[in-house]
Formats: sequence, structure tokens, C-alpha cells
Amino acid sequence: MKNQTESNRNIPNILVVDDVPANLKLLDDILKSEGYKTRPVLSGELALRAAEKEKPDLVLLDIMMPDIDGFEVCRRLKENPDLKDIPVIFISAIGETANVVTAFNYGGVDYINKPFQAEEVIARVKTHLKLRFQSQELLELNERLKQQTKELEELNATKDKFFTIIAHDLKSPFNSIMGFSEMLVEQVRDKTYDGIEQYANIILDSSQRALDLLMNLMDWARSQTGKMEFIPEYFELVNFIKDITSLFEDIAGQKSIIIKKDLPLNAPVFADHAMISTVIRNLISNAIKFTKPGGEITISAIEKPDQLIIMVKDSGIGISNDRIEKLFRLDETYSTPGTKDEKGTGLGLILCKEFIEKHGGKIWVESTPGEGSIFIFTIPNV
Ligand code: ADP
Repeated sequence: MKNQTESNRNIPNILVVDDVPANLKLLDDILKSEGYKTRPVLSGELALRAAEKEKPDLVLLDIMMPDIDGFEVCRRLKENPDLKDIPVIFISAIGETANVVTAFNYGGVDYINKPFQAEEVIARVKTHLKLRFQSQELLELNERLKQQTKELEELNATKDKFFTIIAHDLKSPFNSIMGFSEMLVEQVRDKTYDGIEQYANIILDSSQRALDLLMNLMDWARSQTGKMEFIPEYFELVNFIKDITSLFEDIAGQKSIIIKKDLPLNAPVFADHAMISTVIRNLISNAIKFTKPGGEITISAIEKPDQLIIMVKDSGIGISNDRIEKLFRLDETYSTPGTKDEKGTGLGLILCKEFIEKHGGKIWVESTPGEGSIFIFTIPNV
């Protein structure tokens, strides 16, 4: 259905309905002489069809008509969510109060008695058109306000999340780095070396966590402030994935987790290097974090004619369905510690979603608690 109001607001479009051709012509002439665009129709049925085809700005509606009368036409218009806001002015020779009241009860905005004066018709039509446009403007303004409120709420949630992360999550790995470094220093000073390898490993883990977190935080801050530009370019994804994976060999090795790759020989993509790197980094890091020692991770890619599908599968603890719904969402802070109590922020997957959607792709997870998860994302071909 075309919306005349949007397409041509300057010339209002009036649907005129009367079963008597002479009356119809008279009304039509009056309105045309005022410069309105009119659509004259001879029955209620035709009126409904015309309104559905192209929404009028106002309906001038005769009451007494043979098939469906004006009241019924008005009732059906008001029943239709797309048409119910059109002002209907009834026009009738039956000027009894009861009839006028019925007309208003059916949702009419005005009532003109026949015979009428052209000036009266014009004055009433003008007034109701003006009211209609004003109420439309108010509605639009209201919509804009709603949108702005939503954006402000999101911004606020973003800000809250940011401060929570800085206040809690970044503090914890640094506390552990400082605590264990102090113990290391003391033990080395006292020349007692028991357990220092374990301390060093904890420091390494915590540093890795702090670094992951910082990188996510910086990416995220840049994306939120609009400073992270989306700069896609052609590159080869398979070697890129291999390079990123190699950065995690050590940390996976510490948990005796094997990282397998099931990748094609090469896979050219048109994508943003930095964003795709963040996504893969986060998915592999999570897979390691939520897999028990001795587990297995497989990174695979499938080329389809229209997109590339990348999957990071783990044999980890899995995620229950009700929790899956909370992932990827800024309004639902969701984070659980890893299998070695690694802390997180719930920021990684939000970033992944944002970056993949910038590419026009999708990201989702399939998981069975106790068996493992598979995070899947797509990069469409351009
Ligand atoms: P973080 O890992 O910092 O908590 P993410 O956004 O990366 O933040 O992940 C949010 C949550 O999703 C995690 O805390 C965890 O509960 C769940 N999750 C993510 N990846 C996995 C996975 N591979 N296996 C099980 N749970 C996962």
C-alpha cells in the first residue's frame, strides 16, 4: 500500500464516497477547486478497496448507500491497523441527533448535513487535514524520541559495562600478578625455589588474561566511540587463522588441550583484518578457557558459494539453552569462570557479534552441556 502522506504531503489525497453520481461529482468539484487530489468512488466496497490500495489523508463518506453503508465502511477502516487513523467525515441527509451520535461512535471526526454549502465542506476538510498532519508530526516526533531514548539507554548500558569491567575485571588479574610476583621475589631472595614454576605460570596466565581483556576493552571502546573504522580488504584467511592459533599453543599446552585445524588450502575473504582477528582470538581463547585439561578444540572453515563459514568447536563444559539466550547481549551481563577459574567480562562475544554483523555475517552457538560447544560465524562473499 502506498502512503500518499509520505510521498506527497503537499497535496492531500481525499477519498470521496457517495452512491449518487450527481452528489459525488459536486463534492469532487468542490474539493478539486481547492487544489486537493481526489478519488471519487460510488460504493462502500469500492471505497474500502481504494483506501487499501492507496491510503487517503481523509475520507468524505456518505452514510446511506445500498451495499455496505457509511457506518460499516467506517467500522472496517477503523478495524484495519494501517487505515484506522484516517479521519472520516460523514456526510448525510439524515441530520437527526441519533444519527450524528452513531457517526461519532463509529469513529467519525465530523458530520456534514446535506444539503451543504461548499464553504462549509472546505472549512471542515481543511480543519481535519490540519489536525491530521499535526497529529502525524507528533507521532513522528514521539517515534524519534523513543529511538533517542533507546540509544541513550544503550549508551548508558555501555558506559556501565565499561566501568564495571575496569573496576572489577581488570583489577583481578593484576592483583594476582602482583601477589605472585611478590612471592616470587621473596622466595628467590630466600633462595627457596619450591613452587616457583607454578607461581610463574599463574603470572603468565594472569598476564595473558589481562592482555586479552585490555585488547577487548580497547577494541570495544574504539568501536563505541566510532573510532574503529570498518576497513575491509582482500586477504587469505587460512594462514591468518593459523597465525592466530599459534599464539594460543602455549596456553592450550598448559591445559594439555590439543588444537586441531580442519581448513581448506586457502580461503580469500574481503574483511577487516583487525575485527576478524578479534573474533577468532576471542573464540579460541574461550574454547581453551571453557575446556577441561586434556580436551580438544577444532577450528574449521567451509567455503560456500555465497559465504565462508568458520567454526570453533570445543569438547568443553558446554552452555545450557537458557544461558545461550543471554550471550552476545550488552543488556545481559553474562560471564562465568573458566575450568581453571579464569575470570571474564562477558565482553568478548558482544564484540564478536558487533564485528561480524559489520561484515553482514552472523554468529551463533550450538552447545550441549557436558559435551562441548561450537561457535559458528559467517563472512558473506562480496
Ligand atoms: P568472557 O569469556 O570474558 O566471560 P565472553 O563474552 O567471551 O566473555 O563469554 C561470555 C560467557 O559465555 C562466558 O563467561 C561463558 O559463560 C560463555 N562461553 C563463551 N564461550 C564458551 C565456550 N566455548 N564454552 C562454554 N561457555 C562459553
